[in-house]
Amino acid sequence: MKRLLPAIMDCHFEAFNPTGFFGSIVTALSCFDHTARRHPMHPLLFDVLIIGSGASGLSLALRLADRCRVAVVSKVALSEGSTIYAQGGISAVLDAQDSIESHIQDTLTAGAGLCDPEIVRLVVERGKSSIDWLRQRGVPFTEVETDQGTSQLHLTREGGHTHRRVVHAADATGRAVETSLERHARAHPNIELFEHHNTIDLITTRKLGGRSQRVLGAYVLDTDRQRVVTFGARLVALATGGASKVYLYTSNPDVCTGDGIAMAWRAGARVANMEFIQFHPTCLFHPEARSFLISEAVRGEGGRLLLPDGSQFLHRFDPRAELAPRDIVARAIDYEMKRLGVDCVYLDISHMPPEFVRGHFPTIHAHCLALNIDITRSPIPVVPAAHYTCGGILTDRDACTDIPGLYAIGEVAGTGLHGANRMASNSLLECLVFAEQAARHMLATLPDTPPPGELPPWDESRVTDSDEEVVVAHNWDEVRRFMWDYVGIVRTNKRLERALRRVELLKQEISDYYGHFRVTSDLLELRNLVIVAELIIRSGLARHESRGLHFTLDYPTPDDTHPPRNTILTPPDFLPHKT
Ligand SMILES: Cc1cc2nc3c(=O)[nH]c(=O)nc-3n(C[C@H](O)[C@H](O)[C@H](O)COP(=O)(O)OP(=O)(O)OC[C@H]3O[C@@H](n4cnc5c(N)ncnc54)[C@H](O)[C@@H]3O)c2cc1C
Repeated sequence: MKRLLPAIMDCHFEAFNPTGFFGSIVTALSCFDHTARRHPMHPLLFDVLIIGSGASGLSLALRLADRCRVAVVSKVALSEGSTIYAQGGISAVLDAQDSIESHIQDTLTAGAGLCDPEIVRLVVERGKSSIDWLRQRGVPFTEVETDQGTSQLHLTREGGHTHRRVVHAADATGRAVETSLERHARAHPNIELFEHHNTIDLITTRKLGGRSQRVLGAYVLDTDRQRVVTFGARLVALATGGASKVYLYTSNPDVCTGDGIAMAWRAGARVANMEFIQFHPTCLFHPEARSFLISEAVRGEGGRLLLPDGSQFLHRFDPRAELAPRDIVARAIDYEMKRLGVDCVYLDISHMPPEFVRGHFPTIHAHCLALNIDITRSPIPVVPAAHYTCGGILTDRDACTDIPGLYAIGEVAGTGLHGANRMASNSLLECLVFAEQAARHMLATLPDTPPPGELPPWDESRVTDSDEEVVVAHNWDEVRRFMWDYVGIVRTNKRLERALRRVELLKQEISDYYGHFRVTSDLLELRNLVIVAELIIRSGLARHESRGLHFTLDYPTPDDTHPPRNTILTPPDFLPHKT
């Protein structure tokens, strides 16, 4: 903001007039001169700009592209994001013994009173059609032969689900989904893909000095060419995934730095329920293994959690033991690790037949074997790690945010589906359903939405190359460490306040740095991480109870004196004026 506003105000602030502004627009995007569009000083213009290329971004692009021109930008290679690492699967009611009502009830139970029941129903009812849509695009889900000699989808079971309802492609479901969607997106003539493009900030009418609010596009750092490109679009969707990189230990890939949440916040959108961070109970604990998850399906298929002395312990925390929801399992592990002062616990599936283990978990088996752990013979060392951002940018059932023209889908969004805790395998389903919802709404809206018109180019006239990269590297480490130590699985007010003081200092330091030096990917991510950290801490401080994933020693039980409440934060500059 500090960097952006002076430049924009120089050229546009006084002249800004919404009618005149849209009056000077290019009216037909498809007629736009491609040579001009390629020049860095000219904005690249599209009907829809999608920021992010995981399950949510690519399925939105594919649902739109027969009817309009779409740009998809991704921070690194197209397939890199949480989607490709998803192992377990996608929940859908397909078994004759199962029912929509049962899936709804399981989701509501996991969400601890904070799910939006209408959204839960919307998502659960679309389970089968979403799986069909993926199968039509060639996703090779695992099948089994029935007694009648026909084949049907194999369904596995995960924590919190009372039925087998998780559709999967062996133990690499996300890879199967992402690569199939990627193949279709690359082949579609109306989808233009921009890999290695790191979005810096959204462009909105308010940021250009207008009174009304509408999104117009985004400034994006082309990291290969090290130059900032302006994208203009009638509509913009954030599909940037979660924010778990804000923690020292995480199952998420490096791209998950909460950029979409921070960008939307800076642009004036509200966020919801950011205190609910899901810690996956079982990440591989090995000095050479970086962020490798041991799927919950291992517990679903009979895996047992053991202390270093070989004893089982989960039954002491929950009667469902190994099949308890992941927050309970993660807290139990955290408790036992702290009590015993040990570095990890163990997940054991070696009592199952070796061919069963290799057949169900080929990826986990191969990955562990490469580290000299044969999971058919010995237990797997595991620890909890930050895994999923349940809250996010507040959206409605059409994926619309507070900012007209701006949508949010996938893990970046706070739709109301997960409430205080996400049930396993509901998140990929959420990506697919809200991509469909957003596409429908966008296609209905596009005919009445003018293109963005002239946009000011990114201005670098007042910044230089950094001579102190160490500041960025140091602050990256600092924020992730204090978030782990003070804002982790078990919280207290004192720790949250300590974290808040540090975040405030860091925010100031990063803002100064950002105002003086040319942007780099590390700096952009750090600037976003620190905002996300602040949102998590402030949301945690606002909740005076323990509920779902938010557990605090100061208020160890749910507050039953009021109906459960969502934590909704509004950016300070956008608070309604007091009269
Ligand atoms: C190890 C692991 C296992 C999981 N297993 C399951 C499972 O079995 N079932 C399930 O339902 N869920 C699972 N999840 C969760 C699920 O995978 C994610 O919630 C889901 O894939 C998120 O998809 P998405 O499209 O929202 O984001 P992602 O797939 O994370 O994609 C984010 C995209 O945004 C881009 N991006 C981010 N910032 C920027 C920026 N500034 N500019 C440009 N591009 C940007 C990234 O490059 C990437 O393309 C798992 C997650 C992990 C990490």
